[in-house]
Amino acid sequence: MQLIDGKATATRIKEEIAAEVAEMVARGEKRPHLAAILVGHDGGSETYVHNKVLACEACGFKSTLIRMEDTISEEELLAEVDKLNKDEDVDGFIVQLPLPAHISEQKIIEAIDYRKDVDGFHPINVGRMAIGLPCYISATPKGIMELLVRYGVETSGKKCVILGRSNIVGKPMAQLMMQKNFGDATVTVCHSRSQTLKKECQEADIIIAAIGRPNFVTADMVKEGATVIDVGTTRVPDATRKSGFRLNGDVKFDEVAPKCNFITPVPGGVGPMTICMLMKNTLSAGKKEFYP
Ligand code: NAP
Repeated sequence: MQLIDGKATATRIKEEIAAEVAEMVARGEKRPHLAAILVGHDGGSETYVHNKVLACEACGFKSTLIRMEDTISEEELLAEVDKLNKDEDVDGFIVQLPLPAHISEQKIIEAIDYRKDVDGFHPINVGRMAIGLPCYISATPKGIMELLVRYGVETSGKKCVILGRSNIVGKPMAQLMMQKNFGDATVTVCHSRSQTLKKECQEADIIIAAIGRPNFVTADMVKEGATVIDVGTTRVPDATRKSGFRLNGDVKFDEVAPKCNFITPVPGGVGPMTICMLMKNTLSAGKKEFYP
């Protein structure tokens, strides 16, 4: 069994990005610039955005954090998005989700200039990804593909079962894994209505679990030699931790790991790759790689 170390891989990738940025700056090119809009003071969002700012520093990017109160109107947020769309110094930007209930997330996502949409949530990027055109790919599925490639996990012709069909993980993951000359796998997507989920998993060479149900995938669902990617991160109470909780994956790690060729831990697997792929997308934005 080989553990897929997302933390170490993410550190390496950030070093690679920093080296490339140093070369760009030495050539007299501009530092890539990522901006983030944070609405309100949600603890989780504060942490995510803080970590994104730190990652920008590690990569040598310029970063700008725009804070707005959660009482702002949708129009005010749209006006801020418009400003960033027009700001020539900003290569890419994100609006941290979730947003307050009175603001339509979809409306905000669609207002972002797709050429600066480094989260890869705009329908143009989602559509381009689906037909295999160059574009920003959302960070979590992009990070999983990067882990599979870097660990030499064979995907071509393999049976891949994806648990979950969300727009940010399950669906894009399925697109990438089935993509010609990329994942090249035979893909099955299971969700809460699937009747044959267990059987599909038992036959899978690769299982990607993204449902947010702690310990859902058990040893009897996994065949010998499978690769298991655990996207799930559910906070479960844990009195032994200072925070009072720990992150639990969708996979019952202790019993599943011995059967696997490759497996990701939680934490330290997929999680660290997510911010790192946002950095990769920002580098691409700085280089005008997808939309010259
Ligand atoms: P989501 O939007 O809640 O979607 C969950 C999906 O799982 C849905 O498609 C749902 O089916 C399916 N599902 C739920 N219970 C199920 C069950 N008992 N059997 C089969 N399918 C079931 O979640 P998400 O945003 O994709 O996130 C999934 C997990 O990944 C969460 O734990 C989240 O915290 C984590 N996550 C981690 C990262 C990271 O960076 N590590 C990034 C994103 C998400 P229906 O469609 O039928 O409702």
